[in-house]
Amino acid sequence: MSEERRRPGRDRILAYGPLALSRGSEGWVFVALCLVGLGLVFLGDLHTQPGGSVGALAFIPVVAAGWATSRTQTAVVSTAAIAYRVAAITLGALPFTTGAAEVLTIPILALLSHLAAEWVTAATSIERSLHRAQAEGTRLAALEGAKSEFLRLASHELRGPVGVVGGYVSMLDDGSLGELPSGARRVMPILVSKLRAISLMIDQMLETARLEDERLVLHVRRTDLGQLLTDCVEDMRPLAEPDHHLDLELPPEPVLAPADGGRVKMIVTNLIDNAVKYSPEGGPVRCKLAKDRGRAVVEVSDVGIGIAPEHRDRLFKRFSRIESHATMQIPGTGLGLYVSRELARLHGGDLNVDSCPGEGSTFVLDLPLNGD
Ligand code: ADP
Repeated sequence: MSEERRRPGRDRILAYGPLALSRGSEGWVFVALCLVGLGLVFLGDLHTQPGGSVGALAFIPVVAAGWATSRTQTAVVSTAAIAYRVAAITLGALPFTTGAAEVLTIPILALLSHLAAEWVTAATSIERSLHRAQAEGTRLAALEGAKSEFLRLASHELRGPVGVVGGYVSMLDDGSLGELPSGARRVMPILVSKLRAISLMIDQMLETARLEDERLVLHVRRTDLGQLLTDCVEDMRPLAEPDHHLDLELPPEPVLAPADGGRVKMIVTNLIDNAVKYSPEGGPVRCKLAKDRGRAVVEVSDVGIGIAPEHRDRLFKRFSRIESHATMQIPGTGLGLYVSRELARLHGGDLNVDSCPGEGSTFVLDLPLNGD
């Protein structure tokens, strides 16, 4: 708004010529010029009477006024033009019939030209808003690009050192580096679980960067989903227990699906990790695998804080976290569900949620079995 005020004429003069200058206070300069024009025309009429072509020039300032001024200014100039016509008729400079017809035409002409001026102004302002929106779009695209680049670089750079630390921690944990003092042994589970959380975050960042660059390629193989779920649950058990009990329910027959095992494991790990994180009071976390009408269905349920219906659409968006009193202290990036749903959809499946605030949530992953 203030930007527009500071440079009122410049753009318009460039785009529509000097007439457009007069919107605002300069409009009165135009009114004055129009009135001088009318006076000159009037003198010309008297001189070349009766009427004649000079009289027709009276319309020029009227039209100009319509283009150049606000409604009030247009009204002033048209009234002056009408007064001029009436005076010209009275003084015998114009025949009555010609003059009367022109008097009727003047306000209509002024109004039409004024409306045209309004449209031009509206078009200018739309054009300017469009330019602003385009500039904003370019800025946002550049920001998005920088964010993706940061994700890609940060996750790449972190992966190496975190892998090395992870290697040493597991050697310490399994005793390959010698017997640990009892104090160190007590903190080992914490170290292992925190490292697992960091690795999961780095994987989510890497997958997000790949999804954005459209570089993510699935390596699809016939995968035993029962075995995959068992591995996930066993990997996550140290992180979940003792506050959460992990339960696994598998169908009697194997469930084989064409899938990228690493990626499906990442989805299920994200879901179990969330189920544990968002059940701060503890409680069971149940993983269930079933077949349903040609699809494999994996359910991960908890009895945690739950999700209000109005937040459900946001959950699966990038960097989207639900900020509430209950989630304030729980760490996260807001990438896990976004990546998980995108991966599920790349498989031809989907990820959805059913939840009741205060009672818990069930995330449902379905994947095609392709006739298996
Ligand atoms: P985050 O890293 O924040 O956990 P996610 O994408 O995995 O990111 O989850 C997005 C948001 O969805 C979380 O911030 C949390 O508010 C909500 N959420 C995810 N899983 C659960 C769950 N099992 N129970 C309650 N809220 C959940």
